[in-house]
Amino acid sequence: MEKNVLQTDIQFLPGVGPKRASLLRSELNAGTIGDFIRIYPFRYIDRSSIVPISAATPDMAYVQIRARVEEIGLFGANGSIAAEDAKFNTVRRMSVKVSDGTGYMELVFFKGIKWMYSKLKDGGEFVFFGKPSIFKGRLNMVHPEVDAAAPSGQDGKAAGFMNASMTGVYPSTEKLKNGGITGKVMNRLMETALKMALPDMEESMPQYLLVEKGLVPIQFAVRNIHFPKDMAALEKAKYRLKFEELFYLQLSLLKQKYVRSRNENGIRMLKVGDAFNICYGSLPFDLTGAQKRVITEIRDDMKSGHQMNRLLQGDVGSGKTMVAVLTALIAVGNGYQACIMAPTEVLAQQHFKNISKYLKNTGVRTALLTGSSKAAERREVHAGLEDGSTGIIVGTHALLEDNVVFRNLGLAVIDEQHRFGVEQRAKLWRKTSCGLAPHVLVMTATPIPRTLAMTLYGDLDVSVIDELPPGRKPIQTLSASEGRRPALFKFMKDQIALGRQIFIVYPLIFESEKMDYKNLETGYEQIVNAFPFPPYRTAIVHGKQSNDEKKFNMEAFAAGRADILVATSVIEVGVDVPNASVMVIESAERFGLSQLHQLRGRVGRGSEKSYCILMTGNRLSKESRHRIELMCATENGFELAEEDMKMRGPGDLEGTQQSGLPVSLSIASLARDGLVLNDARQCAQAVLDEDPRLVQSKNRVLAEEIGKEKYNVRDYSQIS
Ligand code: ADP
Ligand code: MG
Repeated sequence: MEKNVLQTDIQFLPGVGPKRASLLRSELNAGTIGDFIRIYPFRYIDRSSIVPISAATPDMAYVQIRARVEEIGLFGANGSIAAEDAKFNTVRRMSVKVSDGTGYMELVFFKGIKWMYSKLKDGGEFVFFGKPSIFKGRLNMVHPEVDAAAPSGQDGKAAGFMNASMTGVYPSTEKLKNGGITGKVMNRLMETALKMALPDMEESMPQYLLVEKGLVPIQFAVRNIHFPKDMAALEKAKYRLKFEELFYLQLSLLKQKYVRSRNENGIRMLKVGDAFNICYGSLPFDLTGAQKRVITEIRDDMKSGHQMNRLLQGDVGSGKTMVAVLTALIAVGNGYQACIMAPTEVLAQQHFKNISKYLKNTGVRTALLTGSSKAAERREVHAGLEDGSTGIIVGTHALLEDNVVFRNLGLAVIDEQHRFGVEQRAKLWRKTSCGLAPHVLVMTATPIPRTLAMTLYGDLDVSVIDELPPGRKPIQTLSASEGRRPALFKFMKDQIALGRQIFIVYPLIFESEKMDYKNLETGYEQIVNAFPFPPYRTAIVHGKQSNDEKKFNMEAFAAGRADILVATSVIEVGVDVPNASVMVIESAERFGLSQLHQLRGRVGRGSEKSYCILMTGNRLSKESRHRIELMCATENGFELAEEDMKMRGPGDLEGTQQSGLPVSLSIASLARDGLVLNDARQCAQAVLDEDPRLVQSKNRVLAEEIGKEKYNVRDYSQIS
């Protein structure tokens, strides 16, 4: 056990035991002492300061007061109970009135009353620590922590652990608290853990990098992140730990990329081929400069002899599909097959329709495969893929099924990649029978902020279409609350009279699915009442419909047989109806910025002036108001994505939930630590430039660290 404190099971940490261990494991993911000391405080409290009761207000976070117990009241289900006859199993609530000479405060306990009563019953002075709030007009604290007061003026030192001037506040849950693992218990356990583990902790960064980057040693960092000696020590500790975390992440990604660039296992596609030229020559428009640039980048990848792994980012409507088609044609022109995968049935169908149109004169055979393809169709599609007569296949997840086999898949285009997991991609790679990994183009319309892209896709090359096709008119975005609905309906009628079509979108939040559908149904009824047939025609699409129903309704709208399409956010991805010029988003405050932006991108595709109207509730939180205002102020998707990330953190960022981060970050924040990330990335790049395989002895510790399993979770190019 000696040398292995860090790997020791958490239950053997003194003060833990099997019961608490299972809580720490399930709630905080801490299975070992090593895991445990990597749970960092998210906030610190200066325990040396005491707040006078008269100055405490409910909008303060945690405060510490020093006060005398004046009166204790015990209450059961039927009211007050005299302390003498109290059977503590009938006491439901204890109320303690305390005073510090500047004012009174009520302390309330619902649990652990017997023990707390015995501690406080004789009166005297204590230090109470908790969150002030107001109940029935009186200042109170619920379940404060209680310490005997030290002689005046020494409270801070008395409460301090390891001589720290501040106390950390750790992530907590209801279950942890109920299991007796309070904030103070966490502090105490952490102190014990550090005393045991610190002496054994080995430096995890090479010495030369510590010096070069001015980083504090690991033992100093870990000690001070939990029990800071002072502010300066805390800052140094934080920087060191953040840097290290981001550095290793980047190092592992960049190393993967390096390994890939050394592999000569890419399918060499030297020509563009006839089909490409025919299609290109018959386009009804010129490609934008950005589209041309991106196609050149892709071409260079495809003929390089290395496998392409490229992420194509482009705002909604920037013309990514066109790029996908031309890329697929390069593969076909070189004698390979290509597949284009879309996240939804509706989108796959639409892609198929558009792509078939572009390919009309090329002689390339295309096919569609989705979950609702009939058995006979399927057999035919499978056969065409197997014998190689089908050049381009468009489809959904159905393409991943085991019985789909390609003769020689040379390219996989994945649209809206965030809907696909890494495993699904790997499955696709295995379908190729020519022995070489297909080139991969991942397309996303979710503008991903730079810092996040670097982390999520550090091992991919990135192309950006940063230019919209000419002739797009700006979309006017307005917000309105319920009172303006009559004006909205009037406006909609005017637009319909002009021959335009309208989307109305309702939020869909899975936790309250029932309620959401109720909202949708009520909304639909309201619309049908206000826009009766004839002359108005309203279609509805939502997730509970069968694929046929969805298709029927979408097609009715796309073909202009309906004026209004009421929908849940299923239309979020991709549908193209150029004649739709108004997007109404109901309960817009319930959508994230990126999602609002995606929805808005459904209009403004035709030649008419377009509008996006954000309907909101009357009372909005400050954050929601900010979001709505931003939407009205800018159409720039990247700006919105940056803002979204700042406001919600990267975990919530639309489009990243499923793909997740390659490794979970325990201290660095992608939203806030962009500068540290840059620094860490440059440093990682410099290390690899000098020692790409990390074989030099000074880099031994680096090679060891990124050899760990947690860095081995994703590699887009894997075909094993
Ligand atoms: P994205 O997938 O990036 O959201 P699409 O590929 O669906 O965008 O393109 C949106 C619309 O713009 C389509 O109707 C497409 O035909 C059209 N389009 C694409 N490229 C151009 C271009 N260079 N000039 C004019 N229109 C274009
Ligand atoms: Mg698209």
